[in-house]
Amino acid sequence: MSIHDLFTHNRAWAAEMERTRPGFFTSLTKQQTPKFMWIGCSDSRVPANQITGLEPGEVFVHRNVANIVVHSDLNALSAIQFAVDMLKVEHIMVVGHYGCGGVMTALAGGRIGLADNWIRHIQDVRDRHRSLLESLPQDKRGDALVDLNVIEQVVNVCVSTVMVDAWAKGQKVTIHGWAFGVHDGLLQDLKMSVSSPDEIEPLYRAAVESITASRL
Ligand SMILES: [Zn+2]
Repeated sequence: MSIHDLFTHNRAWAAEMERTRPGFFTSLTKQQTPKFMWIGCSDSRVPANQITGLEPGEVFVHRNVANIVVHSDLNALSAIQFAVDMLKVEHIMVVGHYGCGGVMTALAGGRIGLADNWIRHIQDVRDRHRSLLESLPQDKRGDALVDLNVIEQVVNVCVSTVMVDAWAKGQKVTIHGWAFGVHDGLLQDLKMSVSSPDEIEPLYRAAVESITASRL
């Protein structure tokens, strides 16, 4: 596959879309009113639309290495603010995936370069839950850290100024935590769906506890 092939495929895809669904692109230009925002990993094996059966225009996507939401990351925060304030999305899902390279590197504690500073956020999650992780069999720790990272990032979205203000205004937005299995194509609900500030703490505790229970 060369770069040139991508253009060839693009032309063929656009023609096929227009043939099977006449007016597809004209209608796309008129609407950008997604109900969903997806915060996922940059990993090429986790395409948001395809996994969920959503059309282009139905999900607003932000991706970075290991689906992290950092309080000072203007990129992620701007995307969240645009989604919540302008697009009025009703659901934001933070979606991790099993076998995530970023999470595995964080767990092993190896060095890969500049990205170590980004991965450090997952190591903070690892260190916060060290005793939980060490109570699990070695081969379950990677998946558990994927889940824990998602749960922590859901909290980070919930306590962002964007969500604090939106909930204070009575806007209905729910933040969800999911994990995707690259090996079976299935999404797992980590039971961390937060619709108000009061729910953060109890849901967080229950979600973390169920990680231990499900992996022993
Ligand atoms: Zn990943």
